[in-house]
Amino acid sequence: MSKPEKFFDENGLRLDGRRVDEIRPMKIEIGVLSRADGSCYLEWGNNKVLAGVFGPRELHPRRMQRPDTAIVRYRYNMAAFSVEDRIRPGQNRRATEISKVSREAFEPVVLTHLYPGAVIDVFAEILQADAGTRTAAINAATIALADAGIPMKGLISACAVGKVDGKLVLDLSKDEDNYGDADLPVAMTQDGDITLIQMDGNLTQDEFKEAMELVKVGCKQILEIQREALKGKFSQFDTEEIEPKIVAGVSESEVEIDEAVETDDTGTEEEVEDVEEDIVSNDENNEKPDENADYEDVEEGEDK
Ligand code: ADP
Repeated sequence: MSKPEKFFDENGLRLDGRRVDEIRPMKIEIGVLSRADGSCYLEWGNNKVLAGVFGPRELHPRRMQRPDTAIVRYRYNMAAFSVEDRIRPGQNRRATEISKVSREAFEPVVLTHLYPGAVIDVFAEILQADAGTRTAAINAATIALADAGIPMKGLISACAVGKVDGKLVLDLSKDEDNYGDADLPVAMTQDGDITLIQMDGNLTQDEFKEAMELVKVGCKQILEIQREALKGKFSQFDTEEIEPKIVAGVSESEVEIDEAVETDDTGTEEEVEDVEEDIVSNDENNEKPDENADYEDVEEGEDK
């Protein structure tokens, strides 16, 4: 793919006919995986993403449990066939980084303190990639978390903004991403609090401020699409009573943090962090893909 001669037509429209402040069409399907607690299939332009949520369920090994909170694990993965040239399967530095920042993007909203000792696993599989996959994955993961009934303060919406030929544009296409001057993926809460921000390239301070305003517009549009999708899914359950989630044989309302601390035989917080660091370095070294461990856990968690 070579650089296009120009990125805008005589009317100021982009190569795919969009205005500078227009996102690509997004389609959301909820509850597509029967073995997951929550799931979402999301198409955004030519991106195709599948998100699955497992949990909350008891975390194994128990020494990794946190007595006061659940932990959230997030795994972003590009399928080998998701891009034009096949990608080597498994985690790499880029996927490890995206997994980390995406997990952190959910930290302010997921009410993890309700599930001490538990784990919530989020898997985001990129089936087809066409620029903006980390933001597409976050949008799908939010819906999958909601589908799993995970209590959250609100939804997270994500979108990228960038600069092409000196103009700020929302939701970069592949050409704009490849040959543009800047790419700024952002995730935010429904109140507009930013939970993820990264940047490739250069923007002036004024451009940065303008870009943040533009990306807010994009995230708002996405939030509306997410809300509509969830309304469509959950309006049919209006009259049904919702069962409380059970973690490790204890209902959510019965979980007492103090009790968990007294009876807990887990390691200290520092030990847990050490273990988490080990997992990341294992990923980077490709010694032991966490994929296997995670899927073993899923099987173990079936008795929840
Ligand atoms: P994002 O997908 O979040 O925009 P990047 O900016 O890193 O993340 O990637 C932009 C696009 O480049 C991806 O959506 C994908 O289409 C392509 N891409 C990323 N990594 C690879 C890779 N290893 N091989 C081929 N194409 C890739």
